[in-house]
Amino acid sequence: MTPRLRLQPEAVGMGMTSQRVRDRLVERLREAGIVDERVLNAIRTLPRHLFVDEALATRAYEDTALPIGHSQTISQPWVVARMTEVLLENSPKKVLEVGTGSGYQAAVLAILGLEVYTVERIGDLLRQARKRLRQLGLNVRSKHDDGRIGWAEHGPYDGIIVTAAAPALVPVLVEQLAVGGQLVAPVGGSGSQSLVRLVKRADGSVEETTLAPVVFVPLLSGTLD
Ligand code: SAH
Repeated sequence: MTPRLRLQPEAVGMGMTSQRVRDRLVERLREAGIVDERVLNAIRTLPRHLFVDEALATRAYEDTALPIGHSQTISQPWVVARMTEVLLENSPKKVLEVGTGSGYQAAVLAILGLEVYTVERIGDLLRQARKRLRQLGLNVRSKHDDGRIGWAEHGPYDGIIVTAAAPALVPVLVEQLAVGGQLVAPVGGSGSQSLVRLVKRADGSVEETTLAPVVFVPLLSGTLD
């Protein structure tokens, strides 16, 4: 069941933020290899321009990462689509995101009907993301914390998505994965990063696959207001 979005006409906007530009982005993602119609539909539905500063709204439907303040970025739509597509492969119900940022990735997961938990270390970004998600009527549970410790209270998760890069996969997050669950995360330093998928098997062992080269901001320690 896809939740219905609560959109005011003025929030949806006209011109460069209209449905037509969103449809064009979806076509571009399809050409770039995204095949899951549920994911393409979520991106077609969600007004990405509401997740960036007004001054950047006209660029919101380009397939590119954009600044959201505090030296952070809203991820490139193709990356959001690909990570979500991978995450959906084992039909998750409950998912954890580390790195809420603008809230866009969390919104995509919520609109797909998943139970979403998200953690962000920068308080200001989290407050803005919460406001957007609330305005869109999307139910996402969020916490201001260092996401490298996950969110044990609500685990284990069928899926964990990390939207900031670390030199290696974080063991605590692997612990919070359910059996059969998968973690999708960028791994690497500032020079070279890859999107990695890890699946947790019944015997506790893990299977790792490298999916694609990506560029993410770093996963940092501690919290900021
Ligand atoms: N998923 C976001 C992408 C934001 S960029 C979106 O859709 O917009 C990555 C985010 O991860 C940044 O907001 C950054 O502050 C956050 N981040 C980095 N290290 C973190 C950590 N240890 N715990 C939680 N969030 C972290």
